[in-house]
Order: sequence, then structure tokens, then C-alpha cells
Amino acid sequence: MINHLDLSVSDLTRSTEFYASLLGSLGYRRVENDADGGPNWVLRAEGVLSSIGLHPASESTRHTGQSPGLHHLAFHAESREQVDELYSLLLASAMRILDPPAEYDYSPGYYAVFFADPDGMKLEMVHEPVPWSE
Ligand SMILES: [Zn+2]
Repeated sequence: MINHLDLSVSDLTRSTEFYASLLGSLGYRRVENDADGGPNWVLRAEGVLSSIGLHPASESTRHTGQSPGLHHLAFHAESREQVDELYSLLLASAMRILDPPAEYDYSPGYYAVFFADPDGMKLEMVHEPVPWSE
């Protein structure tokens, strides 16, 4: 379980709006800002608190998933309906869709939507009915 994830963003206002909508729909609760003004959201699951925070980027280089660093980040969905609901939210908010909801061959019943945050970082929401085996 990831304890916390912090992202640098080129436009704090724009990304705060994006992540407030996305994380709010996933049940995250907004908490206090960091010293640099970046917001934080927390989610409690299985008794563990996990947070996602934003920070203003100090460099203006553009993110790509092909350069060293984060490739993409995926959120669990509890059902296919939750994936579809997020897709509707993304469409209504004119957010960038990379691949609409579909089944993929990664595991039996893998159903996911892929989209991008305002800086082009690739995000995913996936429902996997069969849990990973180790
Ligand atoms: Zn993925």
C-alpha cells in the first residue's frame, strides 16, 4: 500500500481543480495545504491512511511517460460501473481521454479507462474482478 504520493504540477490551480474532481469521486477527502500551498487528499482503506498531494513545479519541462519517472498511476475501481461513471465525469469535464473504457488482456475481466492529468501524466482506473495472485 502506498503511504503517500506527491506530484509536481505546472499550474497548481488547474491541477487542484482536476484532482479535486477526480479524487473526490473516488472518496478522497481534502485536508490541509502544504507549506508551498499545494493541497492534500486522504483516503482511509483497510485501516491505513493514504494521501495524494500536489506541489508547484519549479521547472517547466514537460512530463512524458517515456522519460525516466512515473509511467502511469492506476486507481482501483470497485466495479465496471465505477469505471464508466468516471468516464462520464471525464467527458463532462472535458478532460483528456487516452483510451475509453474497454476490456484488456492483462488479466481476466480487466476493465479500464485511461486518461491524462493537465500536465499529460497518464492515469488509469481499473476494475479487476480476479485479484492478482503472487
Ligand atoms: Zn496500468
